[in-house]
Amino acid sequence: MRKTVPFPRTHYKVGRSSAGLGIFATDTIKSGMYLEYVGDLISTDQANKKKGARYLFEINSTWTIDGSPRTNTARYFNHSCDPNCESTQKGTQVFIVATREIKKGEELTYDYGEEYVNELIKPHGCRCSTCVIKQKKKTS
Ligand SMILES: [Zn+2]
Repeated sequence: MRKTVPFPRTHYKVGRSSAGLGIFATDTIKSGMYLEYVGDLISTDQANKKKGARYLFEINSTWTIDGSPRTNTARYFNHSCDPNCESTQKGTQVFIVATREIKKGEELTYDYGEEYVNELIKPHGCRCSTCVIKQKKKTS
């Protein structure tokens, strides 16, 4: 996915979602717009030792971004099994890029990847809006 320009600041906000806090579009976000996942670059070895740490984005076996600073709005993206964004990397930079036009009110999500999902999401059950709706249909 080719990225174009960053999400305009007025086009998104942090709010409540099915999985805690999330990012929501407050205006149309065009396909290709992106938000950079910012934070300190730490070694992946160091990251693996931070037990229970959230907001770690593993770039490769050498480097991980510690995205815990509040200035990293991209940390509020939740995982979704039917996402409207995807993560891309350029060197040690990570961008979350819209893969389609996102309408006002939609939550912005990307797929965290198989390893993360299998280890950290599946054991508790996925709470993304797609899975929550599926779950509701099953029980009603
Ligand atoms: Zn899901």
